[in-house]
Amino acid sequence: MKTHRILVRQGFLLRLGLVLGLALSGGAHADLKVFACEPEWGALASAIGGDKVSVYSATTAYQDPHRIEARPSLIARARGADLLVCTGAELEIGWLPVILADAGNRAIQTGQPGQFLAADFVTLLEKPTVLDRSAGDVHAAGNPHIQTDPRNFSRVGAALAARMAALDPGEAAHYRARWADFAARWQAAIARWDAQAAPLKGVPVVVQHDAFPYLERWLGLKRVAVLEAKPGVAPSLGQLAEVKARLTATPARMVLRAAYQPARPSAWIADQARLAQVVLPFTVGGDAQSTDLFGLFDSTVARLLAGLKP
Ligand SMILES: [Zn+2]
Repeated sequence: MKTHRILVRQGFLLRLGLVLGLALSGGAHADLKVFACEPEWGALASAIGGDKVSVYSATTAYQDPHRIEARPSLIARARGADLLVCTGAELEIGWLPVILADAGNRAIQTGQPGQFLAADFVTLLEKPTVLDRSAGDVHAAGNPHIQTDPRNFSRVGAALAARMAALDPGEAAHYRARWADFAARWQAAIARWDAQAAPLKGVPVVVQHDAFPYLERWLGLKRVAVLEAKPGVAPSLGQLAEVKARLTATPARMVLRAAYQPARPSAWIADQARLAQVVLPFTVGGDAQSTDLFGLFDSTVARLLAGLKP
């Protein structure tokens, strides 16, 4: 009995010591708190920041990033953030403005160094010449799904590392060194993916949502149809039948959709037009292999290649 009480007491003192130790070290080296809108930017911030950052991802790979509810838990996280890392290009236009307004955190507002939008650092594809938001077009600023081309991470990552160094100058060398290491490994990985994906060049594909123009351009995939007649609006049966008719003249090999998207439109066209169905992780966490950015593209290339098999 007595021994037991002593052990409990020792355990308590140990825990107290740990808490005090953490509190003290926390005061000296406060983590840079990152609020990432999507998992890919959270993964990039973690890769650059290592143990100097704490990263919170507002969404998972199984949520539609165009449509997120501005829940109180997200607002609370944004309130405490030092750096907000989002896609931009209006991907989050339906929910991020609400979070920014309600969080009341000046550091991460538009125009502040604590707000980092990845799309500002890449060339956007499909910028509309005439602005038309009618009938639910969710890509009015150009296509925001920049994370499907690994080369975009090289540009975004360099800018993000510089931003993190500016916000946390005491650790600037740490961010620079980690970014240099990541960038070198990333370049080597891109060369590997390029070689593996060579058989995909020129392969005609159908996509469910217009989510992959950067992936298509990177690998030379040829998009012959989009199931959604308007980005963000589920296709009707009539629209699907139209796509099917068009595929008779211009056949495709596979239909692509992201992990978060409903299976039904892809499944229908795959069955009707005899296409392979390829579900892509789309971001970190979108399948078992996509535990980090390297895994995301390992999986993406492997799944596309599997789609070529009869
Ligand atoms: Zn979209």
